[in-house]
Amino acid sequence: MAANNLRYNNNLAASQMADVFSKQKRSEVMAAVKSGGNNATELKLISFFRANGISGWRRNQKLLGKPDFVFRQNRLAVFVDGCFWHGCPKHFRKPSNNRKYWREKILRNQERDRLVTKVLSKTGWRVLRIWEHELKNEKRLVSRVWNLRSRAD
Ligand SMILES: [Zn+2]
Repeated sequence: MAANNLRYNNNLAASQMADVFSKQKRSEVMAAVKSGGNNATELKLISFFRANGISGWRRNQKLLGKPDFVFRQNRLAVFVDGCFWHGCPKHFRKPSNNRKYWREKILRNQERDRLVTKVLSKTGWRVLRIWEHELKNEKRLVSRVWNLRSRAD
């Protein structure tokens, strides 16, 4: 439910901003939205971790791509990717205005995601990328995290 709302809000915010703001102003606003926008999903994941006895994670670690969660001991980096910002194949809807701007922006995000995953993997990190919509399935998510953690032990 929360993930749904968040996706809706992101889409709404994006299309509204594209209408209202000049290009420069828009990118400033987007940067602000982006830095704060992930909070609800992170909090949800934290509650899953706590409820399922998953410990050993840290936030705000200095690591390439700024993972949302880092399990340093297991060398596991976890990213939660917003369905809009990272172009989820199931949920990304093109905004009706400034299509070119958005397409390029999302493509850049995706390219960066791939690069970050590749470089981290090459340096011995396991990378788990979770779509925002996958937060709806707690069981599946938790078992993925468990599996990746135990493999590293
Ligand atoms: Zn999605």
